[in-house]
Amino acid sequence: MSDRKAEISAALARVEAEIAQACRNVGRDRSEITLIAVTKTYPVSDIEILYDLGLRHFGENRDQEGSAKAPLIPGDAQWHFQGQIQSKKIKSIVNWAQTIHSVDELDHAIKISERSPGHEIFIQVNLDQPRLVEGAMKLPEHRGGVHPLELVEMISALTAQTSLTVSGLMAVAPLGEEPSLAFARLHNLFLEAREKLPTITKLSAGMSGDFALAIAHGATHIRVGSSILGIRPPLA
Ligand SMILES: *Cc1c(COP(=O)(O)O)cnc(C)c1O
Repeated sequence: MSDRKAEISAALARVEAEIAQACRNVGRDRSEITLIAVTKTYPVSDIEILYDLGLRHFGENRDQEGSAKAPLIPGDAQWHFQGQIQSKKIKSIVNWAQTIHSVDELDHAIKISERSPGHEIFIQVNLDQPRLVEGAMKLPEHRGGVHPLELVEMISALTAQTSLTVSGLMAVAPLGEEPSLAFARLHNLFLEAREKLPTITKLSAGMSGDFALAIAHGATHIRVGSSILGIRPPLA
């Protein structure tokens, strides 16, 4: 086994042990959780190692990178796009990413649906809270996602205006807030969304630093990069 494979294998075992513990803590079954290895900026050789170690779900943030890597990995791999969507990239993204986690604009959803009817998407939700900044309540710099108060409206619009398979919600824990508070809000939004649209059964939340908390709050898909692959190489 190469040094790199041994290193990744050991890190993956630690992550798996943490997932198992997080599941036991709240009486969930490991089979309820899909581990997505977030491979953005890591080389294809690392993805090949992960594939050899049995992983089948991979996440990328940029079309240019994902579209180059996906064809090099065997066809039973599942690719998740989780970055900011640009209109002009949609045509390409739907060709390699079976699931798009980061839909937060109706226009993008309509374009995805036109290119690829039935495509699986998650709605990205923004969990940022207004905070006191220099004496005034302000929203932190916008990091993408539908505002929680606009979620139900977004679900109605997606149902009426697209043929997409809306299968879940996705979110990133906000900076500067205890993640478990944000994940608790997300779980409530998820239950509300599922009530409105029963195909919403998946919840994509939790990264290297907080996936155990996300599992405690109902995540079904966790997106983990650096805990498995080590310090992330800088963006090209
Ligand atoms: C990069 C990224 C991750 C993984 O981050 P790590 O801290 O490396 O685990 C998860 N989700 C999104 C949306 C990301 O951009």
